[in-house]
Amino acid sequence: MHDTTARTTARLERFTRDWLEPAVLRETRPLDVAAWTVGGEPVPFADAVAATYAPFALGSPWGRPWDTTWFHVTGAVPAEWSGDAAPAGTRVELVVDLGFTGAGPGFQAEGTAWTPDGRIVKAVEPRNQHVPLVAGQALDADGRVDLYVEAAANPDVPGGAWTRPTPMGAWETSGPDPIYALRTMHVALVDETAWELLQDVRALHGLVRVLPGTSPRAAEVLRALEDMLDAVDPDDLAGTAAAGRAAIAPALAAPATASAHRVHAVGHAHIDSAWLWPTRETVRKCARTFSNVLSLMDEDPDVRFACSSAQQYSWVQEHFPELFERIRERVREGRFVPVGGMWVESDTNMPGGEALARQLVAGKRYFIEELGVEPKEVWLPDSFGYTAALPQLARLAGSDNFLTQKISWNDTNRMPHHTFWWEGIDGSRVFTHFPPVDTYNSDLSAEELDRAERQYAEKGRANTSLVPFGYGDGGGGPTREMVAAARRTHDLEGSPRVELSDSQTFFDAARAEYADPATWTGEMYLEYHRGTYTSQARTKRGNRRSEHLLREAELWAATAAVRTGADFPAARLQRLWRTVLLQQFHDILPGSSIAWVHREAERNYAEVARELEEIVAEALRALIGEGDRTVAANAGPFARDGVAALGAAALDAPRGAGTVAPVADGDGWVLENDLVRVVVDPDGHVVSAVDRASGREAVLPGAKANLLQLHRDVPNEWEAWDIDEHYRRATTDLVAAVKAEVAEGASGPVVRVLREFGSSRVEQDLALPVDGRGLRITTRVDWHERQKLLKLAFPLDVRAERATSEIQFGHVHRPTHVNTSWDHARFETVAHRWVHVGEPGFGVAVANDSTYGHDITRTRADDATDAQGARGTTVRLSLLRAPKFPDPDADQGEHELTCELVVGAGIDDAVRHGYALNLPERVVTGDHGVEPLVTVDDDAVVVEAVKLAEDGSGDVVVRLYESRGGRARARVTPAFAHASVEVTDLLERPLAGAAGAPARDGDAVLLEMTPFQVVTLRVRR
Ligand SMILES: [Zn+2]
Repeated sequence: MHDTTARTTARLERFTRDWLEPAVLRETRPLDVAAWTVGGEPVPFADAVAATYAPFALGSPWGRPWDTTWFHVTGAVPAEWSGDAAPAGTRVELVVDLGFTGAGPGFQAEGTAWTPDGRIVKAVEPRNQHVPLVAGQALDADGRVDLYVEAAANPDVPGGAWTRPTPMGAWETSGPDPIYALRTMHVALVDETAWELLQDVRALHGLVRVLPGTSPRAAEVLRALEDMLDAVDPDDLAGTAAAGRAAIAPALAAPATASAHRVHAVGHAHIDSAWLWPTRETVRKCARTFSNVLSLMDEDPDVRFACSSAQQYSWVQEHFPELFERIRERVREGRFVPVGGMWVESDTNMPGGEALARQLVAGKRYFIEELGVEPKEVWLPDSFGYTAALPQLARLAGSDNFLTQKISWNDTNRMPHHTFWWEGIDGSRVFTHFPPVDTYNSDLSAEELDRAERQYAEKGRANTSLVPFGYGDGGGGPTREMVAAARRTHDLEGSPRVELSDSQTFFDAARAEYADPATWTGEMYLEYHRGTYTSQARTKRGNRRSEHLLREAELWAATAAVRTGADFPAARLQRLWRTVLLQQFHDILPGSSIAWVHREAERNYAEVARELEEIVAEALRALIGEGDRTVAANAGPFARDGVAALGAAALDAPRGAGTVAPVADGDGWVLENDLVRVVVDPDGHVVSAVDRASGREAVLPGAKANLLQLHRDVPNEWEAWDIDEHYRRATTDLVAAVKAEVAEGASGPVVRVLREFGSSRVEQDLALPVDGRGLRITTRVDWHERQKLLKLAFPLDVRAERATSEIQFGHVHRPTHVNTSWDHARFETVAHRWVHVGEPGFGVAVANDSTYGHDITRTRADDATDAQGARGTTVRLSLLRAPKFPDPDADQGEHELTCELVVGAGIDDAVRHGYALNLPERVVTGDHGVEPLVTVDDDAVVVEAVKLAEDGSGDVVVRLYESRGGRARARVTPAFAHASVEVTDLLERPLAGAAGAPARDGDAVLLEMTPFQVVTLRVRR
């Protein structure tokens, strides 16, 4: 036979585009449109419906960026379209085109259709433009259309240029001119047969595209499509569409092969809680997406929808209660399925230990209390890498499965597994799945299903994967076209077998077919988006400060409640926690959102800090009484300067200067106490730092520590997200000082250094405490560079093959060498409050108060011979960046960042300094000290939180963990009257059996802790 594949395919494409797609809307009729423009922030429906509307002509411009226009659309449905007169195989719908652009759903204008009595019907978006016209809902008593469309003029922020600075990321800068023109607001007669034929054609044409051209099946499908083309008369498509369907029915009926990959298609909508839009818009995105889903569920009883983020349900509950009740009903039916169990789909690199635990606690408690459901998986398809602390936290929150696909974005290495056990730093493991489809926004096209099957790495041992389908990032969700694709690929030769499913059903099936999957141990580092540890430094600082203030506020408020009977501000704390948890969302804390989002986050953090300071002050006032003595309060987990951990003490005398006086030495200075001796050169660099007990030098000979380095930082693709490896090859050492002198710092004398470069200036204070081994360096930057990365370097005379970095409830080791492609790709890493490098018997820690990005590399000495490799290790902190997209002014202005060089430090010292730097002693005036609520007799076991129970019972909850990666035996003693102590999960539910009943010795609880184990104790009063 002659090969006519190309001709037939071209004919099929033209037929589909020029005849079949237009034939779906058999006829349209205009309606009357009137409009009212808000001219500001969104308003409730009641305000909008009461406004005065003016007639609005199709084709007219509307919507300056971020504004809202309400359209009131009214008119008759033609009599010959409705009731008994309606042509067979048709239905009537409203069709709306707000002036949609080529950008995808969720990245441009969107609308919400409301009935006049304030019920949300459905959203209108590109590729999902219809509103069903159902009697009694979208039609009035006379069968006339009467709807309001709340149209959001959300701009397409990148406009196709993802690296170009844009003014669209804030109301003030986005311009006064309308950016859309209303194209369509029609009532339409939909030809159902033509629509079905279109879905048939898409499914089969997809098979032709993905199957090898040499396969009998591809040829058979193409011939069937050709028969369809012959059977359908483009001049009478309505009359011949059924014949066309009949022609391809046998090709659609051919069953899948026995070995076909099995796909669980789970309806989903990835809705970024903020990103290229502010959170206020996400509130409306949720309403739009969820109403789309409910509308789809009305049409198809088999559709199930996986929906994460308690925050998003909570928004809908608050702003759209009627919609929320309908969601709740579908949740009860098991169709609208809460997944993930977290407050938001948070970043997992940067949230602190307690905060990451609280993501799960706040999320799960919401799902259980408001929806009666406890999700059993952690669902994070899009976060930028996964902390090795997560498996334990997931398990302790009662979750045993984990889903992501983001690691498929790796720029260098490919994850070897799609279904596997993931084991964390403590040895806990969760059953994990990476959908091999490599997207969380699938449309179930043949290409995507084929990709899932081709890439699935567990072939031969297992054969099932999950495909999340539905428009996402900016929401939108699944469409009826996607469901139609799932129906047609349910059992279709040449395609994976697709089943409409849900997350739990998938995990049950995957576990059942794959008893012994491989194990991945430790963090799942994303080889991409390495700039997210550093971009938007003020947002990061706000997070770090908030986390520690929350700890203080909970500790002192709980202590005041137990010791004095003061009220515990549970509702306030819950509200503040929720703000902090929201801002850990995977585009806020990582710094990858528009200006609007980050300025709002900064304001929120300031307000959170103000309220938490108030709570702390009130609690301490109640605890220490009225008086004029100086009282030092220590919220940290270690005793400090004579004040017990978690307690407060009245001081006999006010504390003197906290820092040593720098002594001139040549042109530089020596800072010295009993523990360390530090030499600062005339330009403010640390050229020597000696541990006096051992005589060991910490600074690499000939090198300068506290060296500021400026890099050109222009990544290829995602400005705010990425640091590309080539940044290292464009470096300027900022060695020159404008001035260096002894000055008076916050707690005593310091060496103060001023540097100027570009349009920026940096002032640093170097201070050594009277009795500590940490040289404290406070860096104040007035930053006006663009596309630059500012690093602070400490070249250390320590030969370390691996570096240790704090993560949540423990730490990870990472190689400092680049032997493998995995090591090479890990050129920028995240750490929490400290990093540490060491040799046996000697180590150095660098602690910080708000920095997350680091790089730690092997370093040769300046005078190294040919025979000498790396003698030292350089620790560098990534202080600031200045990406220009999506916030063109990211990181401009003033910053303050503090770090500490701790000479002669073990891991235990690193832990101690990390806490001390982030939880400074609080000096207040009062009458007496405070006895800690709980004491722990082993410094390896660290108290991370002391609070009252979430259930309002007044029980005290203490969360602690083993901090060194070893075994520990600790006596934990509650110092107040109590009835019992139980070990609980993160949600404060007692663990079953012996695990829940710790050994006791009098008042003390005896804990046998395993490496990095997290234990939650519930002390019943
Ligand atoms: Zn996302």
